[in-house]
Amino acid sequence: MASFQGVAKVEESAGLPTWLPDDVAAELSDRFFDAETCTDWFLTRCYPDGPTCPRCGGAITGERALARWRRLQRLTCPHCLRKIKATTGTLLQEAHLDPRGLFILLSLLGLGVDPYDVAGVIGVTPATVLNWKAKVIALVEVPA
Ligand SMILES: [Zn+2]
Repeated sequence: MASFQGVAKVEESAGLPTWLPDDVAAELSDRFFDAETCTDWFLTRCYPDGPTCPRCGGAITGERALARWRRLQRLTCPHCLRKIKATTGTLLQEAHLDPRGLFILLSLLGLGVDPYDVAGVIGVTPATVLNWKAKVIALVEVPA
């Protein structure tokens, strides 16, 4: 088994990039996150009782409809026959950010990362980051 010092010496002599946290953070982007996992995370929070029509509340069932639901594609509600998306009526509806980007944005803010740095990671303006922060805070402050 190679020793730590041995590995470090080989990497240094090969001129490989370091694994220092600053160097790794500089590479951070949505490509390290799974889109499906992030989408499922948001959908579970929006629809804790499972996929339902945001218009009539009817359960979304059927393999094809559920697949479209999970991909955030438009589908026809089998109950009210309206065109809907899982994002209809949620914060994601007008989001010009995919669920991966939004998950990264919110989690980095949660870790106390500066909004300007968060903006750089996901390729949006700092104003977008601050706007999302205000939106989610307002959401928890809405009286029930
Ligand atoms: Zn419906």
